[in-house]
Amino acid sequence: MKFHEMHENDVANQLKTNIEHGLSSKVVQSKQKQFGWNELEEREKQSLLLLFFNQFKDFMVLILLAATLLSGLLGEYIDAIAIMAIVTLNGFLGFFQERRAEKSLHALKQLSTPQISVLRDGKWMKKPAKEVVVGDILKFSSGDRIGADMRIVAAHNLEIEESALTGESVPTPKKTEPLPPAKNSLGDLENMAFMGTMVTRGHGVGIVTAIGMKTAMGQIADMIQSAEVIITPLQRRLEQLGKILITVALLLTILVVFVGVAHGHDLYTMFLAGVSLAVASIPEGLPTIVTVSLSLGVQRMIKQKAIVRKLSAVETLGCASIICSDKTGTMTQNKMTVTHLWSAGKTWTVSGTGYVPEGSFYHQEQLVVPQQQKCLHQLLSFGLLCNHAEMIKKDKEFIIDGDPTEGALLVAAMKAGLTRKQLMQDYTIEKEYPFDSKRKMMSIVIKDKQQRRFVITKGAPDVLIQRSKAIQWDKESRSLDDKEKQAVLTEIEILAEKALRTIAIAYKPLHEDPKKLSEEVIEKNFIFLGLQGMIDPPRPEVKVAVKECREAGIKTIMITGDHVVTAKVIARELGIFHNKSMVLDGQSLDGMTVEDLQAVVEDVSVFARVSPEHKLMIVKALQKKGHIVAMTGDGVNDAPAIKSADIGISMGITGTDVAKEASSLVLLDDNFATIKSAIKEGRNIYENIRKFIRYLLASNVGEILVMLFAMLLSLPLPLVPIQILWVNLVTDGLPAMALGLDKPEEDVMKRKPRHPKEGVFARRLGWKVISRGFLIGVVTLIAFIIVYYRNPADLPYAQTVAFATLVAAQLIHVFDCRSEHSVLSRNPFGNQYLLWAVIFSFAMMIAVIYVPVLQPIFHTVSIAKLDWLLIIGLSALPTFLLAGSIFATKKHNI
Ligand code: ATP
Repeated sequence: MKFHEMHENDVANQLKTNIEHGLSSKVVQSKQKQFGWNELEEREKQSLLLLFFNQFKDFMVLILLAATLLSGLLGEYIDAIAIMAIVTLNGFLGFFQERRAEKSLHALKQLSTPQISVLRDGKWMKKPAKEVVVGDILKFSSGDRIGADMRIVAAHNLEIEESALTGESVPTPKKTEPLPPAKNSLGDLENMAFMGTMVTRGHGVGIVTAIGMKTAMGQIADMIQSAEVIITPLQRRLEQLGKILITVALLLTILVVFVGVAHGHDLYTMFLAGVSLAVASIPEGLPTIVTVSLSLGVQRMIKQKAIVRKLSAVETLGCASIICSDKTGTMTQNKMTVTHLWSAGKTWTVSGTGYVPEGSFYHQEQLVVPQQQKCLHQLLSFGLLCNHAEMIKKDKEFIIDGDPTEGALLVAAMKAGLTRKQLMQDYTIEKEYPFDSKRKMMSIVIKDKQQRRFVITKGAPDVLIQRSKAIQWDKESRSLDDKEKQAVLTEIEILAEKALRTIAIAYKPLHEDPKKLSEEVIEKNFIFLGLQGMIDPPRPEVKVAVKECREAGIKTIMITGDHVVTAKVIARELGIFHNKSMVLDGQSLDGMTVEDLQAVVEDVSVFARVSPEHKLMIVKALQKKGHIVAMTGDGVNDAPAIKSADIGISMGITGTDVAKEASSLVLLDDNFATIKSAIKEGRNIYENIRKFIRYLLASNVGEILVMLFAMLLSLPLPLVPIQILWVNLVTDGLPAMALGLDKPEEDVMKRKPRHPKEGVFARRLGWKVISRGFLIGVVTLIAFIIVYYRNPADLPYAQTVAFATLVAAQLIHVFDCRSEHSVLSRNPFGNQYLLWAVIFSFAMMIAVIYVPVLQPIFHTVSIAKLDWLLIIGLSALPTFLLAGSIFATKKHNI
């Protein structure tokens, strides 16, 4: 069907819909049943069976399985079956960890699916894009990603970037008129909008003509779906580290086998012991545990209202040294109320709070009737006409649908008894020039009943006054010279000093058809009408968050499109601006290069009256100074800065799809304090990863060393292969996972941000791994030697004691790993998961030692009660021996 050649009404008829009312929910439901969801089909994912078998493709595991098979053939059935069972269990553990990681990554993707505005049963509503059906009427505006293929039926300065489909990165201006038959390529269809493309300017309405795989995007979906495996820098580094560790573990294992054989052990025993040792000491699960702990951290962040879109952001969060944040809505509540108005030299105040449209107007504390004050009445009426906000009453609560700034103007007009419906009886709107943060204004062209045209503009006062040539003064307008402009600027500053956000209203008669004029010509030579000043109170939690960030070595910078003075007053209130800090405005930035800015940028704490384009420059200057920058944004033009920042942050409520897609973190509540929580969580996740790396590697070092030392001392094997494998399964599995769930240490937000290039083993972690590992190996060997020499005839008993000591030493050491400082600096029972993991592992060890049916499988014998004193005493030694020495370095670490 060539919808682009048809008139919009014919399209609506053809698709059995109504442009004014949309579809009925009943029709929508039946269409959904019949035609399915508006989704692109995903490619087949890796099957579960494959995922399970992948757990065994590791080279050493394959050798172990081969060796086990061999021992089975040689008649060692119990050993063979037990080893098989443990390897399979290990496989299951890896399988479940990977499944969990995959699932939570998938859930994350789901969370970021866009919502769209759709007209159903005559009402506009927000729905997930997936629920759209053919015939639905959709509304879209600058920053939206188009949710389905559409025939456009209304377009106001609409431009759509279609590079995803056509490769053309310059946005296409869109219109509504039918096209001649010659136009056929996607790029030529100026009255169509396609799924997956981006609205870069203006707004419009369209009738859905195709959904899901039937859209132009659906037809090429297979081509663009890439089986992208997202891997974070830390994961990459750990993979590299893993390779080194594998080599080291293998070399050491070969050494153990070699020394063992040289000291008279038989080759077959040493081979099996060696392979088991290699399997146990290779930290093959490390990357998966990292993924699991990253994605679990990400889920904790969701509870705190921060959605991580890119896993790598979790790591970078912990390194952030500067947060550049928008003011309006992020640091303030975005619940605006007009409190002051100024026109023709007179100031009025308005009573009332929030969006409740009830209040009175006062001039010099005297009640006034707005209808009787010409300028005031005009100021309020024009503020209402040049405005898209709608008031919705829900359960006795007044809610604004639309921009809060416009909402405030709407409420102020309603307080004076004005309604848009009533005003629209006298005027028709001919054209609109939507608001954008660069021009900082919005204009409409209206026609009255006498066919006279006017431009009405609202916008930033300091911008509008420069574009005005006259000012309204009661009944007439008078020309505006520089002195008078200065006087108005002073009025603007008086309002700004009260922390008010100010909007100016201006207008002019228009004698030509606006279609023939450029936006630039329309938006100049105004008659300045007046000002409306609105309060936008700071969010109470932001002040505390700014302070906490400062203590954590993170500086907060306010970047706002708002007036310099308003910004400064609010920044001071929030503790961002101090006497020594600087304020820079957009105009100054225009005259600077990145290098100029770099010279002063560290002294600036407020950037005001800036355009989104300036944000990129600020990010670059800060990055050149070596900072790791978090930058917030919500509009289309913010996207480049969000992308270049180390952590791009977008707003969940007010943010556009474009900004969200460019960002790595989305704030569900648009709140600055959430950034702080995310940084705290980011730091914690990284610390937890360090914790279990420390635990796993120290355990492995201990396991290898006890074997190596025993071989060097010509002792018998202190552990049999199945015991080594058991240690790997039980102690390395659950306790390591539980460390990944640990709560942050108290001083996590009192430390300086981590250097992004910092290695995994920085801050003495390498030393801790080797020293603890060494001690674990040594105490296990001591326990073995003591018991072995007491009765050399009973080797299994000595091996069981060594086994118990090794396990106990690891299970005590795990508590030490919870802190950067010392085991004594935290409540050892603060992590419930860890406590249960340790209790479970301990119980399993007791079972293996005492349950008669398990004894032959694990080559264990019951240990006499008194020997437990020896085991516990020795196994606690590595942790407590070093607790003191670490205390000494505590200050050093912070
Ligand atoms: P922030 O960047 O902190 O979110 P902001 O909302 O003030 O601050 P912009 O949205 O870029 O930043 O707005 C810049 C200025 O444009 C505002 O200070 C205001 O004077 C004016 N303005 C804001 N919204 C509108 C609007 N809907 N119509 C006309 N002018 C507006």
